[in-house]
Amino acid sequence: MRFCGQPFCLWLALLAPMAQAQDYPIQPQQVAADSWVVVADTGYFTPANGGFLVNTAFIATGDGVVVLGSGPSRAFGEQYRRVIEHTTGQAVRELIITHKHPDHFLGNQAFRDVPIRADERTSAMLRSEAEGLAENLYRLVGDRMQGTEVQLPTAPLPTGLRVVGGHRLEFIAVAGHTQSDIAVFDHTTGVLYAIDQVFNGRTPTLPNASIADWLAALDRLQALPFKVLVPGHGPVTRDAGPIHATRRYLQWLDGSLREAAGRGLTPNEVMALPVPAEFAAWAEARDEWRRSVGFLYGRYEQAALPAVDGR
Ligand SMILES: [Zn+2]
Repeated sequence: MRFCGQPFCLWLALLAPMAQAQDYPIQPQQVAADSWVVVADTGYFTPANGGFLVNTAFIATGDGVVVLGSGPSRAFGEQYRRVIEHTTGQAVRELIITHKHPDHFLGNQAFRDVPIRADERTSAMLRSEAEGLAENLYRLVGDRMQGTEVQLPTAPLPTGLRVVGGHRLEFIAVAGHTQSDIAVFDHTTGVLYAIDQVFNGRTPTLPNASIADWLAALDRLQALPFKVLVPGHGPVTRDAGPIHATRRYLQWLDGSLREAAGRGLTPNEVMALPVPAEFAAWAEARDEWRRSVGFLYGRYEQAALPAVDGR
């Protein structure tokens, strides 16, 4: 059967490069003056979503664009940068890496001509861990990672207030989700970029978490006079609802693991425990619970062991 008549073939040939160029569904939404967020899928890493799971944001300061996060791959970073410059009409002046997770920094190659800032601890961890993190993402996502290589941060990210163009940006150390995390509060617009300290409708991920530090970070973020809250995953809000929900989740998780360890449950038994309805409705609820048990339960089992030193 001759399926492809000439006009149709020509049409397909024209569409193919366009489809590649439009690989990632990057649609910035304006959340305040000069301020945009790209809200991502809330699932898990798959070839279909190309690892595009994390919200990214950019601020057109009037003295260049400050970009928060570069996304999961070189292809994403390159496409994202074109979208940023088209949307704002300004050149990118710097990229901020808020923490060490790969979906936040593997688009760095597209920004290597501007300062790529991360705090000292995150930069040090990336120097030793980034290749492994990238390899893992290649395994999960496959083809759309093609050409992606680790580009490490190239400039420091001091905490505190910095005036950039017409914006007063505060960089706040709020470890907890990882060993070192930075939130950005724009005093000029009232937008709080909480990034992965806050999840909205998507189950938090805890491979490097300290729950006690994370809860303290949420208290600190909640005290800020923000008008718009940008979570790392899930939709933007204008209230503190996702901060409260993230806190409730962490408290439930902490309490459940402690109780399970006290009862002597095995990791498999803990993974099979029910997830409360509020959290079960979130994306990836059951899988993230299983992963969190894998990451964290050993610590709780250790803490529940009776002292054996005979004193
Ligand atoms: Zn993260």
